[in-house]
Amino acid sequence: MQIDELAAETGRPPALLVNLSGGKDSARMLGLVRQKFPGLQTYAVMADTGFEHVKPVSAVEWSRKIAGHFGLPLTVVRNPNKTYLEMVRRRGMFPSAQFRQCTSDLKRGPIQKFLRTLPEKVVINCMGMRAEESPQRARQVPWKLDMEMSRNGRTVYNWLPIFEETTEQVLRWHWQNDVPLHPVYVPEYHQDGTRGGYLRRFSCRVCIFATDHDLRMIHQHDREAFDQVSALEQEMGFTMKSGRSLVQIINAPTVSPQSAPQLSLFGKPQEDFDRNS
Ligand code: SF4
Repeated sequence: MQIDELAAETGRPPALLVNLSGGKDSARMLGLVRQKFPGLQTYAVMADTGFEHVKPVSAVEWSRKIAGHFGLPLTVVRNPNKTYLEMVRRRGMFPSAQFRQCTSDLKRGPIQKFLRTLPEKVVINCMGMRAEESPQRARQVPWKLDMEMSRNGRTVYNWLPIFEETTEQVLRWHWQNDVPLHPVYVPEYHQDGTRGGYLRRFSCRVCIFATDHDLRMIHQHDREAFDQVSALEQEMGFTMKSGRSLVQIINAPTVSPQSAPQLSLFGKPQEDFDRNS
């Protein structure tokens, strides 16, 4: 394992920086690193985009609860200059898969800023991406030196501790270890009777990667967030999804059974991933 080798090589134990989102994958990741490296200095951090889930419990509070479950305080970081919706309004357009300014400005940037304040000279930045989530994520390297952040006497590695795990394994870990899932998840993800959830992915309240099915669910269950994004589309004359407004998407005839969203427990990989952006 690279971390043991690293500690032996440098003679100094590294610190772990664990990125929490409030979703299942990052909670699973924290459980894994605490189990494997209970003696290492570990920081739990969450980047609040300003458009996080707020009900029935906020993503920030849920992340705090998860960090607390593993005996850690949570540090919440934010971009001091803008929230997600403010960013979209100022740019006059939504982020896209190619230009994910939301990730860089509202998540990665604030977390990097926090990382630079840590006293440790070797830091391992842990993120909960999994290869199963998408072909693009499968191409990521689970352990890598972060050249951009490794300067001024500090060395930073990026590590994806649960890169090889499946959705099924992640959910089973939650169930077997009594680590609850945020209530926004669909009922079939819970084994403690939690009802009322409507999403298979944990993300911003309306994410640029939301499927048509997700958007219909958000329209039903989080109308405030849906209306905020829909109003921005009107105001800017620019849609979040290519060529179709949110209203057009939810009013379109629903898809045939063959192409309907996966309803089995573990679903299609690309519909299951959490925001670990
Ligand atoms: S969850 Fe979606 S909208 Fe929010 S920061 Fe990540 S990619 Fe952007």
